[in-house]
Amino acid sequence: MEIKYVSTTCPYCGTGCGFNLVVRDGRVFDVGHWQRAPVNGGKLCPKGRYAHEFINSSDRLTKPLIKKDGKFVEATWDEAYDLIAEKFRSYKPAEMACLSSARTSNEENYLMQKFARVALKTPNIDHCARLCHSSTVAGLAAVFGSGAMTNSIKDIGESKCIFVLGSNTFEQHPLIARSIVRAKQNGGKVIVADPRYTPTARQADLYMPFVSGTDVAILNGLMQEIIKSGREDKEFIQKRTKDFENLKEVVMKEDYSLENVSKTSGIPAESLKQAAEWIATADVAALIYSMGITQHTTGVDNVKSTANLMMLTGNLGKPGAGVNPLRGQNNVQGACDMGALPNVYSGYQKVTDEPAQKKMKEMWGVDELAEGRVGYTVTEMINILADRPGELKAMYIMGENPMLSDPDIQHAEEGLRNLEFLVVQDIFMTETAELADVVLPAACYAEKDGTQTNTERRVQRWRKAQDPPGEAKPDWQILCELGSKMGYPEQFAFESPEAVFNEIAAVTPSYHGMSYPRLDPDGLHWPCPTEEHPGTAILHRETFAMPDGLGVFSPIEWKPAAEVPDAEYPFVLTTGRTIWQWHTGTMTRRSWSLEKEAPIGWIEINTEDAEALGITDDEVVRASTRRGSVDIPAKVTDEIIKGVMFIPFHYKEHPANKLTHNALDPIAKIPEFKACAVKVEKIEEV
Ligand code: SF4
Repeated sequence: MEIKYVSTTCPYCGTGCGFNLVVRDGRVFDVGHWQRAPVNGGKLCPKGRYAHEFINSSDRLTKPLIKKDGKFVEATWDEAYDLIAEKFRSYKPAEMACLSSARTSNEENYLMQKFARVALKTPNIDHCARLCHSSTVAGLAAVFGSGAMTNSIKDIGESKCIFVLGSNTFEQHPLIARSIVRAKQNGGKVIVADPRYTPTARQADLYMPFVSGTDVAILNGLMQEIIKSGREDKEFIQKRTKDFENLKEVVMKEDYSLENVSKTSGIPAESLKQAAEWIATADVAALIYSMGITQHTTGVDNVKSTANLMMLTGNLGKPGAGVNPLRGQNNVQGACDMGALPNVYSGYQKVTDEPAQKKMKEMWGVDELAEGRVGYTVTEMINILADRPGELKAMYIMGENPMLSDPDIQHAEEGLRNLEFLVVQDIFMTETAELADVVLPAACYAEKDGTQTNTERRVQRWRKAQDPPGEAKPDWQILCELGSKMGYPEQFAFESPEAVFNEIAAVTPSYHGMSYPRLDPDGLHWPCPTEEHPGTAILHRETFAMPDGLGVFSPIEWKPAAEVPDAEYPFVLTTGRTIWQWHTGTMTRRSWSLEKEAPIGWIEINTEDAEALGITDDEVVRASTRRGSVDIPAKVTDEIIKGVMFIPFHYKEHPANKLTHNALDPIAKIPEFKACAVKVEKIEEV
């Protein structure tokens, strides 16, 4: 019996913890602690601890499948490739679209966008960052010139005041939460604003429950209070920023007095005053946010407002400070960095920029690329499919499950069913794969080499621990073989993920100085422009990434959510996750240690609301919005603010996204998952 330990990076959240896969006779059977893992020092949350359990599930896809007469039939790889290539060649570029995946490696995301742009010549390439942090990329880029977490996970522990807004860090990024604990142990104050009294809220020195969707009002109110008390960082504002007077004009309005913000948000004025004082007077303060900020029709506005607050208090460019968006999926930062987005090539080089187009054509050895226009986002693709059938005809989806993850999934299903040809590449038969014409079996994270980039911009290695099951292949290999079939053998002639990474480093300025040997053992934070550069843990130390080096204050007025409660739908519905499950559950629901802890969905209802509705704990109730209804067990609790209800979105039996609204932020096109109007009723016994 041979036992070996293979160090790799967790496939779940954007924290990027390292662990050892324990392999016996060529098969992974456990996860072991990797004590010197750079992010987590050997500690893991439950998802990481049990990240081996789904790998050898009997449900894994092992052979290519082609749908014939409505049923999947096993096929050879050649049969599948021939059919895909023939079909893709039959469509015009504008009729096709690709979805890449934040679950796959940097190399695979890079190849998917290259496949879309070179082999299909379509600009329509996007991935699920659209649904979680596209507003971060747009919002922070507009203020700082760079749309990424400004500081490192480690230095959150050095903060003297941490403001957590719209992030349940202790459940969703538990190993980042350890840095919050470290800060507290060093005397730092923690402020948490959340409609739910989450495990994160329990750690707060000041907890501020608020009505979902009022973030800008809260942030403007805090800024008004800081300016009124003369606690803004005048030197930082003068030397490092511009347009402060424009900001002042908005935030000093009567609408944003503490009394008025208290009425809008539900937070007592004294709590807001206390929070403003702590943030402004701390030696160094950090702001942490996640999807509570981003998943709104005002997502970009919300993000810009967080940046305004931290610039106002001079909390950028130093340890323990910063605006720290916690990215969701393991490689959502990397998938964006790799250009799996409709508006940029890798390293955020704009597709509309002629020198960038010329550079990519030369680097990729082609005369023609997808035309230099911005393609469709995933949310636009789904709307076009549903509302303008025939405009988009074929789609290639790698490792995504929009049938459970997209808002208003009945609308999404209508759209996907309008496709003439759908290819899905995944490790399991997902709800989306069931709609496909061809399903390609992919290797999972434990079965391939590669890299991923965590939320703090640290690029780290994946290492292969076992062979994929049956005939499944790594996504990078499938993309190379398909690229070659489509007539681009030289452009996709990669022998290994390392060879792909070397091309990434060559074409991507922020990755120029990286190579596999340099990523061992601790990874490197981008930007890392040269082979000697040590990487950049803290951004914007001296200047912002703007042409004039100055951060730009963006005055933002508060706007309510696209759909607010009314007489018919009198409550606000918000959605989110639990520590035990991951997104659409394809991996965690096949991990018995996790699934047994949280096997069904629920709706959280405030005790007073439940009493008024005559609903008791555990009773199955009907939750309805203008999109549909879901019958779901009630969890009656004081741990959610009155007037707001919460459903986790993991469960196909209780699909939260049957209820959510697909209204979009006008810039980032992110849907408003965090606020729509809902009613809840008792189910009458027949
Ligand atoms: Fe994995 Fe995130 Fe848990 Fe770390 S915190 S073990 S990266 S799920």
